[in-house]
Amino acid sequence: MFNKSFFLLLLSLISGSGLFSQIRISADFDSGSIGSYKLIDSVWFFRNSNDSLLTLSYEIESRFDPLNPVDTSLRPSARWYHFRMEGVKGKHIFLNIKNSEAIRPVYSYDGVNFQRFETVENIYRGSVNKIFERDTVYISHFVPYPYSRHKAKLKEWKAVDGVLHEVIGHSSLGLPIEMLTVTDNSVSDVGKKRVWIHGRSHPSETPASWHLEAMIEEILSDSPFAKELRRNTIFYLVPFINPDGVKGGYSRSSSTGVNIEINWDRPDSLTMPEVKTLKAALGRVTKEKPLDLLLNMHSQISSSVTYWIHTAESTTANFLKEQQLLSALTINYTPFYRPQDQSFSAMAPRYAEGWVWDRFGEKTLAITFETPYTYYNQDKDGPWVSIENLAQLGYSTLLAVSDLLDLDKENRIIADTDDNRVSKRNWEVSYDPSSIFFGDTFLVSKKEGSSLKYKLNLKKGVYTLYCWKVGPTAESYPAETNRWVKRAKVIQRRDGNFTYRIKSTNPGEKADAILLVKEFE
Ligand SMILES: [Zn+2]
Repeated sequence: MFNKSFFLLLLSLISGSGLFSQIRISADFDSGSIGSYKLIDSVWFFRNSNDSLLTLSYEIESRFDPLNPVDTSLRPSARWYHFRMEGVKGKHIFLNIKNSEAIRPVYSYDGVNFQRFETVENIYRGSVNKIFERDTVYISHFVPYPYSRHKAKLKEWKAVDGVLHEVIGHSSLGLPIEMLTVTDNSVSDVGKKRVWIHGRSHPSETPASWHLEAMIEEILSDSPFAKELRRNTIFYLVPFINPDGVKGGYSRSSSTGVNIEINWDRPDSLTMPEVKTLKAALGRVTKEKPLDLLLNMHSQISSSVTYWIHTAESTTANFLKEQQLLSALTINYTPFYRPQDQSFSAMAPRYAEGWVWDRFGEKTLAITFETPYTYYNQDKDGPWVSIENLAQLGYSTLLAVSDLLDLDKENRIIADTDDNRVSKRNWEVSYDPSSIFFGDTFLVSKKEGSSLKYKLNLKKGVYTLYCWKVGPTAESYPAETNRWVKRAKVIQRRDGNFTYRIKSTNPGEKADAILLVKEFE
């Protein structure tokens, strides 16, 4: 004999099978990617005869890049997934995501505004479960930065007064590779520093694009800092070097399967058009003068920020010191990067950095910067990576670059012990590159009470004065060294001379640059 609830169950099962087929999974859009998917299981939960919940469990396989035809021993990556599910409203969806990481990935109901799955929705590594509130949901490894966003931002940026926009070449599939040249055209280029930044050779590394976007926004802004950057720098900005890879939702390759990041030392016949394009543009802009800095923007699965610092053995002790100065300055300006997170590797010709090193050596500091996808400082109880904190990190990165190359001479005045604005008594000049310092030398006190006088021209205003605390070029170092230490507040009542004196408290004390940061009310 059938009772009422059995009939209801039967009805639900019949209609339920209809409901399953209403869930559609697709990735045929900009930056979309999925390998395969299948429904593993489904079950109805009944709270009462009128209230039931359908639970569906899917296995998702993230899509592998094509086999790399140039580096055939490389295992293709499948890190990137970004797909749409339709028909999910009010259903409890379990996803088991394979071939990639699913550590609190992100979802969106409109494909634009993404948020992370909560910890309780991602209890098991690789899986997510959630009862969705809308019918359509986009699920992705991290907040996408698709080709369309790149094009929209470029349109905005190239409309800014004085920005030069060029198509410097084309991808395998014929998409433009675009460069912005940014400088203050009312100032002569003689004496300007030259900074090249490119990004997104690896399409899955979207945090890198959010980080770089924030840097470009600041460089183009009306802030006093940005104006000074443009007065003293020519920026060459190539935000998207692998448009095919991004648009097609690849992980580490272009549409051809080639990882263009390691394609710089190949014969012409095996060099991808994207890399040829960059080589040609780099050749052109360095014709009269080498770059001072080249930043190569990436993201890494390790939950920390880092630079890939080239070892002294593969470069020089002095080059290591310069790289570590940039790294230490960045650590100085952000809570999201620590001394122990620094990474080291050998300079190698297969990378852009190696190609630049072979041509310009120490003259160009070429280095890769990595942002995480998950959280910072290996601390999952701390802040998780978001567009907002990547933007903060972008600003911090620019402050570090500015100090390294002395790009803001109005609001961030640096006086180094190398220059003639400093007079000294009883200090020994040291060239030791196993310490991190500005310029070619720093000073070591010969005895207690050695005096040092920084004398410079300073415009009227209120400043905070910092002294650089010289520390070691170790793989990690105490957080209180290799940083700016706040020393004084300076009120300069009129434009003119400013003098700052230091007296050493013991022999062996080290001294280097000072920094005066202008305060704005
Ligand atoms: Zn990368």
